[in-house]
Amino acid sequence: MSQEINRIRELEDEIISLRRRINELETDKNLPSGARAEQPVDVTPIDQADVTLRRLVQRIAMILQAEKILIMFHDREMGDLKGIPPSFGVEDEKLSAFKVRATHGVSGKVFRDGEPIIYHDIESEAEAKEEAYGLLSVQNGVCVPLVIEKRDEENRVIDKSTIGVLHAFNKRHGEDFNEEDVRLLERMARNVGSIIANLQMYREVVEEKEELAQTFESLTSGLVLISPEERILQINATARAVFNAPQDALGKDVSIVINDEKVVKAIQNALSSGDSGKVETHVILGNSERIYEIQFATVSGQDGKGIGVVAILSDVTEVRNIDRMKSSFVAMASHELRTPLTAIKGFSSTLLEGLDVDMYSKEDQREFLGIVVGECDRLRRLIDDLLNTSRIEAGESLKPNYTHVDIRTLLDKVQKVQQQATTKHTVKLEVANELPDSIVGDEDKLDQILTNLLNNAIKYAPNGGDVTIHAKREGNELVIGVKDQGLGIPKDHLGKVFEKFHRVNNEDNRKIYGTGLGLFLVKHLVEGVHMGKIWCESEVGVGSDFIFRIPTDLDIEEAKAMTD
Ligand code: ADP
Repeated sequence: MSQEINRIRELEDEIISLRRRINELETDKNLPSGARAEQPVDVTPIDQADVTLRRLVQRIAMILQAEKILIMFHDREMGDLKGIPPSFGVEDEKLSAFKVRATHGVSGKVFRDGEPIIYHDIESEAEAKEEAYGLLSVQNGVCVPLVIEKRDEENRVIDKSTIGVLHAFNKRHGEDFNEEDVRLLERMARNVGSIIANLQMYREVVEEKEELAQTFESLTSGLVLISPEERILQINATARAVFNAPQDALGKDVSIVINDEKVVKAIQNALSSGDSGKVETHVILGNSERIYEIQFATVSGQDGKGIGVVAILSDVTEVRNIDRMKSSFVAMASHELRTPLTAIKGFSSTLLEGLDVDMYSKEDQREFLGIVVGECDRLRRLIDDLLNTSRIEAGESLKPNYTHVDIRTLLDKVQKVQQQATTKHTVKLEVANELPDSIVGDEDKLDQILTNLLNNAIKYAPNGGDVTIHAKREGNELVIGVKDQGLGIPKDHLGKVFEKFHRVNNEDNRKIYGTGLGLFLVKHLVEGVHMGKIWCESEVGVGSDFIFRIPTDLDIEEAKAMTD
């Protein structure tokens, strides 16, 4: 008990000395501003700001002899004033009940007008009804704005903003708040405001920093920041994966963290010379090999002093693949163009030379001219493929001409034509069930799809074997496939063979010429023109089956709308 009495005495002493101090400050007011004892509130060290604020609120309660102290902060986004901790005499759970629009209630009025309000009887305050005062059994109170002031070196206020309000409720011992209490509270509100503003700013900076760190970490490009002392300052997840770096790489030497000598050398060079540069590196990520381009640039601080080197890692695997495919396409296309031209030139010059001396019989001449015409067709097909590819690329569709197609007759025709082109293979047609008399589609393009698949089946089965066209009706769909007993396609190429320029580049395939455009066009003809689906099932050394599924009753209007 005596302990408590002692504590009360201590507090009373503290109150007396604080009041004295405040009075001194009040009298100081008449001095020129620079000489005034009251200085702008110091920036509270941030780790102590919470504690300082709580103490300050307790102290305010003591000085004003108020039962309760409540801070209401202005939420700019929502336009509300709401109770925030710390408070005095108000349980934290109740704080959320204190929330008014910044245009309402006693709090709103004080916030808006920037003038304090003192009320001696809650019943006479109309605005009080809009607030949750009932929860705190408020009888009387003072409310002052929480103002933060920015001052220049001469202590002149250059900017002022209101961030909320401060309430003191229920003067103790049945007394009433007076004008002096208002002045005191206004004075202390400045300190409260300043601490809250600092805390707010600190929280915003921390949040921003966290957001930045998150963004940095989750970037798809890799990023590494290296200090002039060759230590890792920052490294994000992608860069850690590429260099197989440990989680705790920060602060470590680059040569320990980065397992690629070429990259380490480039970093050291960038650090010593200040030059930017780039290197390329091949890494295994997961199961696949990726190519990363690493660019280096020196980073300078605001004062222009070098603070290190930043390395940016970009995955250029696809770009390099396309580069590679393009150059192999150019080689292939030149070959594909030259082959028919050589034949055309050879046979026509032979005919020309023999013309005067009747060297060749009619039969021979027919055969030679037949070859020339065939090679011209081959050339035209190649040029058409190139033109169609660039049309599809440009977003245009290959103008369809829909009619009723007798599919059975078409299948018979392509089987016969292809059988004539090969002696090594047996081209068969297997129809599982009765096909519809006709389907809606573009006959030329269906012919092109089948011819292309059959050409491939023959081409990629250099040792011969069966080539089977199989067809069946499934509800209102037609499923057609071309199956061979050829080289087959490795699993990792299965989805890609439909991409333009994509060719399987292994020992067996390399000897077989092609442009890599055929299946790209076939896919467009099946999916873009006939609203179907195409896929491939294959096993290396066993053979491949290219299967497509198209509707028997294609909705022409819908298909036209899609291809327009
Ligand atoms: P091209 O035959 O001109 O190279 P395609 O687009 O028709 O171009 O085919 C792309 C690639 O798919 C071919 O290079 C080949 O590697 C593979 N391919 C296509 N059809 C078959 C098949 N029936 N058997 C094995 N591989 C095939």
